[in-house]
Amino acid sequence: MEKVIGIDLGTTNSCVAIVENGTPVVIPNRGGYKTTPSMVAVTEAGKRLVGHIAKRQAITNAENTVYAAKRLIGRKWNSPQVKNAVATSSYKIVEGPHQDVRIVLRDKEYSVPEISAMVLQEMKVIAEDYLGEPVTKAVVTVPAYFNDNQRQATKDAGEIAGLDVIRIINEPTAAALSYGFGRNLEKVVAVYDFGGGTFDISILEIASHGVFKVIATAGDTFLGGEDIDARIIDWLVQGFKEEHNLDLRQDRMALQRLKDAAEKAKCELSSVRETEVNLPFIISSGRNEALHLQRTLTRQTLEELADDLIERTVDICRQTLEDARLGKDEIEEVILVGGMTRMPKIQQAVAAFFEREPCKGVHPDEVVALGAGIQGAALVDDKQEMILLDVTPHALGIMTFGNVFEELIPANTTVPTHRTKIFTTSRDNQTAVKILVMQGDPAKNAEDNELLGEFILTGLRRAPKGTVEIEVTFEINADGIVSVRAKDLETGLEQSIQVTATSGLTRDEIKQMVDAAKDDLVDRRGSEEFEAAKQEAEKLITEIEKLFPQVQQVVASSDFGRDAIDKAKAIVEKARAAIEKKDVAAVKEQIEGLTRTHRMFKGVVAKT
Ligand code: AMP
Repeated sequence: MEKVIGIDLGTTNSCVAIVENGTPVVIPNRGGYKTTPSMVAVTEAGKRLVGHIAKRQAITNAENTVYAAKRLIGRKWNSPQVKNAVATSSYKIVEGPHQDVRIVLRDKEYSVPEISAMVLQEMKVIAEDYLGEPVTKAVVTVPAYFNDNQRQATKDAGEIAGLDVIRIINEPTAAALSYGFGRNLEKVVAVYDFGGGTFDISILEIASHGVFKVIATAGDTFLGGEDIDARIIDWLVQGFKEEHNLDLRQDRMALQRLKDAAEKAKCELSSVRETEVNLPFIISSGRNEALHLQRTLTRQTLEELADDLIERTVDICRQTLEDARLGKDEIEEVILVGGMTRMPKIQQAVAAFFEREPCKGVHPDEVVALGAGIQGAALVDDKQEMILLDVTPHALGIMTFGNVFEELIPANTTVPTHRTKIFTTSRDNQTAVKILVMQGDPAKNAEDNELLGEFILTGLRRAPKGTVEIEVTFEINADGIVSVRAKDLETGLEQSIQVTATSGLTRDEIKQMVDAAKDDLVDRRGSEEFEAAKQEAEKLITEIEKLFPQVQQVVASSDFGRDAIDKAKAIVEKARAAIEKKDVAAVKEQIEGLTRTHRMFKGVVAKT
């Protein structure tokens, strides 16, 4: 039977899984890690790097390293999310030819699906290396709130990567699938997903014989672990300002180091009660004196800093339960998904709200990929019984006179479904009506929602306004494809469209990208991984050694400085030994130390 892989294409990390002999397993990458950073970079020499290798060189090659591309996928250039990303990303984002988004790496423009395709291709290769055979089919997960355009763009990314995406499923559904797999449960579960960039909550009903029905889903696309990191950064910057009267935000490199340190401290505080944030030579005092940042952050302080953000997630849970007309006592299990749910305070807040301990048996980073793998296996195995009943995360409707979003299918309606509503003409003697198909939130003006498609129904009888009746029917099939029909009830005349969401790419463009990606794959295999790591390590060593004399001069007078120099020398030696042995994992390990040392040295030199 053909193997289908399940891919969790995450904002921060991605994960691939498969069902082997009836058991779902996560496939580790060549470095032995079960998740791979969703990062893509192009080096000075024009080489493409994906995953850990891309992450390790991100600081020294920030403008050519893409992270969090998922926030941009399927979005229009003028959307608020894109504007926000343009303002805050270290890489360059420009407008594409179809009001879509393009990312510039080393003067070449890439569409967002192309960038995501590189991550998907990496996951495909990880699976192929493990299985020892080619893989062509995949189930890919997306957030429940993704609209049609974002889903289509994710599918296009799969195609560019050489994968036939046989199904797109929602992340919370995948998590519930993984939880319920093989257990023949009958339960209502809540999936609380707090990741790097977004938060969402879904309520699902698991019925016997493998029926998984989503009851409600909601979230906040601007609330994630990064916001908690930002609170820690504020705290550090403020403390430093009080002590030295200097604003670390004025220094880009200092800020980047603060970001890394904040995230590291946050993660450490999930297992220890206090941690030291230690950033030597962070900035110069202006009197030729380099200053260090050294501060202890306790778990309690972190919890205070993050308190209102955590509370916001609880408010969304409360609202979602109300919308689903469910009491807390009706939720029989809470499943935690996403890296942020490792934070003890978040686990406590969830437990306190739902009045039950969250399920301990699932791994928050792997559960979504495992669910996708399970769904993949079920789709090719006739013996497996499994039905996923998802809901539409957004309302669907049409734009009517006066910029009103007239809802036909409310959010959280189980698909497949169809709904009909009668409309009338808005002008006297109107002979044609334009149907604008919208997706989004009916509380907003129609034009502030996503336009999915449009068509015109002509040949209406000339009559006073409000007297010609037009019946509009919306249908969503099991694949989530939307079609809309408008019918003149008097003449029976009919017009319809199938809403084929666009990812912002034309078919021709996708074809070209598929070909380009194939070429790249041939190039990418082999010893590329070692070569890339070696090149990067050697570049860092050269730069560190160049800075040695200057740094020595500056710091020789302090014990702290001499210590730092000794450590740096040891790291350089270890890296050289790893290169000598052609040990790719060891070289990669040393790159982290080299990067830190290089950054610190540059900091010292820049500040003196
Ligand atoms: P995800 O998008 O699910 O990969 O989650 C990534 C987010 O989880 C990032 O903000 C990470 O900093 C955060 N994270 C990962 N591990 C931990 C941990 N042990 N404690 C707290 N947060 C974590």
